[in-house]
Amino acid sequence: MNAPAEHASIARQHLIDPEICIRCNTCEEICPVDAITHDTRNYVVNFDTCNGCLACISPCPTGAIDSWRNVEQAKPFTLTEQFSWDLLPDTTALDQLEATVMGAAELPAVVQQITEVATAGQGGPALAPWSASHPYVNIYSPASPVTATVTGNYRLTADDASSDIHHIVLDFGTTPFPVLEGQSIGIIPPGTDERGKPHLLRMYSVASPRDGERPHYNNLSLTVKRVTEDHEGKPARGVASNYVCDLKKGDKVQVTGPYGATYLMPNHPGSSIMMICTGTGSAPMRAMTERRRRRMNHNEGGELLLFFGARAPAELPYFGPLQKLPKDFIEINFAFSRVPGEPKKYVQDSIRERADKVFAMLNDDNCYIYICGLKGMEAGVLEAFRDICRANGADWDQLRPQLLSKARFHVETY
Ligand code: NAP
Repeated sequence: MNAPAEHASIARQHLIDPEICIRCNTCEEICPVDAITHDTRNYVVNFDTCNGCLACISPCPTGAIDSWRNVEQAKPFTLTEQFSWDLLPDTTALDQLEATVMGAAELPAVVQQITEVATAGQGGPALAPWSASHPYVNIYSPASPVTATVTGNYRLTADDASSDIHHIVLDFGTTPFPVLEGQSIGIIPPGTDERGKPHLLRMYSVASPRDGERPHYNNLSLTVKRVTEDHEGKPARGVASNYVCDLKKGDKVQVTGPYGATYLMPNHPGSSIMMICTGTGSAPMRAMTERRRRRMNHNEGGELLLFFGARAPAELPYFGPLQKLPKDFIEINFAFSRVPGEPKKYVQDSIRERADKVFAMLNDDNCYIYICGLKGMEAGVLEAFRDICRANGADWDQLRPQLLSKARFHVETY
């Protein structure tokens, strides 16, 4: 366990609900004691390692992580058992026994106490900006997805580009599917995996603003790159990305979500946004930029500063056309890594080039910072922030918790 055992033979075991989990890896990354692991199918919690700190609870976009079962202390669910689950097990008998042992009012106090310990010193639990709109989450689960219709699918990258990135538009007809910029949805590919089980859903950030790709139609867009190789560069066919990139107009798609209650944009007048992305991590940046562009005359905007890393200009999803936007609306800094004859440039190099501006925005309480894209860039970006702070006599390690506590710093990397 996990939460303290109040009865010698009963323990409260921390588990992950395989039915709701979207396999985003957030919990595994955040667990300070490496109690969470995964196989190709499930994310699971090691009973012997988990110390019940609850650091993983609030960052989980779906709430799948907040699953608990009463078990006999000597017989917790093993990792092998958890890997085999499609559903959480029923432990009603033990729940009833615990209710007689432990007063019903006691458990929330225990959990509250652990939550305070878990969030102390980290800048507090993950929060959305104070002026963010209220998000709807988890309306449609894998067990009861909504059917959307494909109304558009076109390739964003140039014909000669090495990446095949698509812009997909999904229409929900008369079924409600409210999303905000920064939220994600799940797509369930049809068919079964090698074990004969239905494919797991894959999560994609929404690339359109809240009023739809086509304003006032019940639709949204996604940015999806066809996966043709694995992380080591060996040929591999991504099940979901190939399914989505090959969709035709009129095709029906099973959709879950929406997900995410904190990676949301501020809406108050004068609020600025610093956006740092690589490749298809541009999806939420496109959504936020489009929201601001459509609301140019509504006195919402502060400044928009974008750092966008891509292999080459031909590989750019979206921000090619957006370069035509007025310079006083958005400042765009591209970092291209594979342009023949030019040195490799990453977003963190561009951030360093704009050090004065970045430092001013880091210290502006009305500026909100969003990072999205490759996991690998996160360390480089944080190092650039650290160097910029040091050069200005400030300490990034002190500033970061302040940004987190004000919900000014948001990271979504894979
Ligand atoms: P990519 O084309 O492989 O890379 C984009 C750029 O990032 C390239 O210039 C690349 O340079 C550079 N890069 C590589 N390592 C870096 C590092 N350590 N620091 C800074 N820059 C680095 O990107 P992608 O395939 O589109 O992948 C984007 C990521 O975003 C994926 O992991 C995806 O899962 C994630 N994502 C996608 C969505 C979505 O909705 N589709 C949403 C959120 C996140 P090189 O020339 O060195 O490769």
